[in-house]
Amino acid sequence: MSRLNFQLEKESTGSGARAARFQTLHGEVQTPLFMPVGTQATVKGQTIHTLKATGARILLANTYHLLLRPGPEVFRKVGGIHRFMNWDGPVLTDSGGFQIFSLPTSRRMNEDGARFQSYVDGEVHLLSPETSIGMQKAIGSDIMMVLDQCIPSTAPYAQAEAAMELTHRWAKRSLAARGDSPQALFGIVQGACHHALRKKSAEFLRELPFDGLAIGGLAVGETHAERSEFTGVVTEHLPRNLPRYLMGVGTPIDILEAVHRGVDMFDCIIPSQLAQRGTVFTSQGKLHFRRSVYKFSDEPLDPTCDCQACREHSRAYLHHLVKTDEQLGWHLLSIHNLAFYHRLMREMRASILQGGFLPFYERKRTELVRTDEVNPSVLPKKARIFQLPRLGDYEIHQGPTGFSSIRQLSSGEVMHSVNRPEEEANKLYVEQARLASRMIKTDTRGHELVVWDVGLGAASNAMAVIRCFEKELADHGSGALRSLRLVSFERDMDPLKLAASKAGYFPHVRHGAPESILTKGHWTHRSGGMHWELLHGDFLELFPHARPPDLIFYDPFSSKTDSLLWTRETFARIFQACAPKPVELYTYSAATAARVALLSAGFFVGEGVGTGPKATTTIAFTTADSAAKHPLTPRLLTADWLARWRRSSSKIPASIPPEARFKFEQSIEMHPQFLARSSCP
Ligand SMILES: [Zn+2]
Repeated sequence: MSRLNFQLEKESTGSGARAARFQTLHGEVQTPLFMPVGTQATVKGQTIHTLKATGARILLANTYHLLLRPGPEVFRKVGGIHRFMNWDGPVLTDSGGFQIFSLPTSRRMNEDGARFQSYVDGEVHLLSPETSIGMQKAIGSDIMMVLDQCIPSTAPYAQAEAAMELTHRWAKRSLAARGDSPQALFGIVQGACHHALRKKSAEFLRELPFDGLAIGGLAVGETHAERSEFTGVVTEHLPRNLPRYLMGVGTPIDILEAVHRGVDMFDCIIPSQLAQRGTVFTSQGKLHFRRSVYKFSDEPLDPTCDCQACREHSRAYLHHLVKTDEQLGWHLLSIHNLAFYHRLMREMRASILQGGFLPFYERKRTELVRTDEVNPSVLPKKARIFQLPRLGDYEIHQGPTGFSSIRQLSSGEVMHSVNRPEEEANKLYVEQARLASRMIKTDTRGHELVVWDVGLGAASNAMAVIRCFEKELADHGSGALRSLRLVSFERDMDPLKLAASKAGYFPHVRHGAPESILTKGHWTHRSGGMHWELLHGDFLELFPHARPPDLIFYDPFSSKTDSLLWTRETFARIFQACAPKPVELYTYSAATAARVALLSAGFFVGEGVGTGPKATTTIAFTTADSAAKHPLTPRLLTADWLARWRRSSSKIPASIPPEARFKFEQSIEMHPQFLARSSCP
């Protein structure tokens, strides 16, 4: 018989969302519910009164920290955590496992449990199923958690299976250790990101007399899509008549998605943690209070919120507190974030009970990923959604660090997969090419500066060029600037159309220019100083008719999808179209194959700045002179690179027929770039 008397009140149709209530030793709670994290028997910066005012009903406390300090004796002496912190509502304690297994060192683990050294006094402790339950009994929580072995959600099958089996054996020992205590006990489903293991774990644990079941081992390394997927996989195999708890999750959108998949309970440090950084969730999206747009704002933080921060203070005051790192700022923003979470939980519950969860979910999942729309930031927002918009062969892709890019469905390739597109555009192209200083007139005529943007994509590079122009225009005035012509080559406009239709995910396209390119194929800055044109079609056919460039931002898809654009023949044609003009070509690729193709085509080739996981990228010059004048010249490929090339498996491109191989090799070996260097001691 469950100790919680769990009562399912309503299950949604068309969604896994459900509303329920259950009884703890300290009163009834209603689900879906959120538990603020009280690591050290305190939710950071809050009193029990402010906590209650935000709507908190049940708290989470960390067994690991409380075991080390103040220790079980204190709890036994004062009569448990409720009296200790004067909290009369329910408390859930974790087992301490998560913290132990997050310790990089100083732990030894076996079947019995884990031995670790205290960070407080150096003493060695054993955390076993029995000692963990013993500590949780001393704390006197209403809901205890079994000790489980936490591993990264990305762990391979064999490792995940071993950890799951151990967790199952520990689950039985935890139940035995609980004995006839009136405290409830939850089992924890493990199995990392392996369907078979998750199913097996849920089916094993549901046969044991637990009062609830938790989903562990998520929010530790997997993508958001995986988290949602595995949450759904597990809840499918959990019994209907027990509470379901997704441990350590998450942001408001994460919680909404998990409720949709049938989860009842959540805990997370995010509301307080983000408040500490000055970030709040509001009805207008996420706001960053360090931004000076709020400096003079007399409005409340969120006009639809009735928390203390919103009722009593202006945005200007809160911004000031955040800027001066005052504790009160953190305190007030935490109050607001907690109130936001608890309100979201209540609204979800109400919509479930009224049979309207699905429309609520559809509306909220777009609302919750917004950032301040009244004061849009040029920084990309950290949007998180799960069914991503598509157009043609493309869909919006959410990177692991939260920014949006475009994925080609047929190839699976992602444009700018690891770096924020705007950052990469600036770092690789605009800054390396010293675009800003090139715009400045050096003589009275100031001939036109032509930039080729090969592979328009979602216009990240093009918009970086435009922003750079607009900045220089603002700084120097139009009289000081050369006129700028940006020529974008693209055969498929769907990525830009998709980005422009979902500008919420792609703040860089919030500008009149992309719209004009999409509708008219060209755009001219109102100053007349910059012209942007689209050459729509195949680059290889179009570029001979384009105005010869000064700079080429060479950013087509990879050699896998656009192999023709990376051959010696193509680069030779580009070289001929440019010569004898000094032209610089910048590209993200650092592949040996791309570099030899460029060298063989006649370019002088150097290393460009690294970006993300790439240590280097590539810059190619049509003349030795322009290479010599570039500030990065010392990094022109040297004899060392040549020696590595000789050993490389991509020494000769596959497209070179056997009879031409020797000639090709000679074109590299005898390249003036290497000859010039070896002849200078
Ligand atoms: Zn508020």
